[in-house]
Amino acid sequence: MHLHNTHAPTSEVPVVAGPCPALAVHDLSAGYPGARGAIQSVSFSVWRGERVGLVGPNGAGKSTLFKALVGLIPHDTGHVSIHGEDCSTSHRMIGYVPQQEEIDWGFPVTVRDVVMMGRARRIGWLRWPRRRDWEAVDAMLESVGLAALSHRQIGQLSGGQRRRVFIARALAQATDVLLLDEPFSGVDAAAEEEIMETLDLLRARGVSVVLATHDLGMAVNEFDRLLLLNRQVVAYGAPAAVFNADTLKRAYGGRLGVIEEGQRTLVIVDEHGCPEGAPMHTEGD
Ligand code: ADP
Repeated sequence: MHLHNTHAPTSEVPVVAGPCPALAVHDLSAGYPGARGAIQSVSFSVWRGERVGLVGPNGAGKSTLFKALVGLIPHDTGHVSIHGEDCSTSHRMIGYVPQQEEIDWGFPVTVRDVVMMGRARRIGWLRWPRRRDWEAVDAMLESVGLAALSHRQIGQLSGGQRRRVFIARALAQATDVLLLDEPFSGVDAAAEEEIMETLDLLRARGVSVVLATHDLGMAVNEFDRLLLLNRQVVAYGAPAAVFNADTLKRAYGGRLGVIEEGQRTLVIVDEHGCPEGAPMHTEGD
């Protein structure tokens, strides 16, 4: 059983709606030569400053959705816009922090260098960074609390610090839509808290975040909305509305349950029949 106290009750959070959603995804389908239709006709919108949890079993297409949104894989159908501008023609970019296994931590670059890479497109690939670029990078590192580590090699950082460096790098693209793929996997509770604090900072700046997680207890308590995916959108909306017996069955095979207990929500997994990828936590409060 996994239980989470609310870190930042969503009701306290001012989510400011602009005239257009920060991110609007319409009828997006994508896949691979050997896995056609990994995501099918996915549609959802994220408003400015909103924090959306992307949940679903292993192989549901969460990473594929992110990769299709940032153009790492082509999409077969669909349309993506940021603040009403078509992504394929917009100068605006979507920030993306991939799963940690996809990053080579032995690569001999410093924290500062990694964040500067986020500005590369803005600087232009054939020009060296100027003083104002480094100033912007240092300001970014300051804002995520990593200024003191700016000259460290990235491999020397803790799990939570690594996540924050990549959040800073994505922000250095001057983006206000950020996709985070499993940032909590493999980090301890202290690092989890650091990452949550960074997410609070982003929210205060109006950055919209879509975050893939396996931690359903956290998802239900820490996010404004949840997108429950199983190739297609099973449900999208307020956490309490998204998790019910029907939607959980459609996504996970019905081996999860949700119990409301005062201010807290428990997500319970049947440990004898846990679906692949779903958490099997046993700790109490
Ligand atoms: P999730 O992130 O929800 O675990 P993925 O997006 O990684 O799911 O995978 C969705 C489907 O696409 C799975 O069937 C997976 O095997 C397949 N897939 C993922 N990456 C590739 C790839 N590079 N080549 C072929 N198939 C892939």
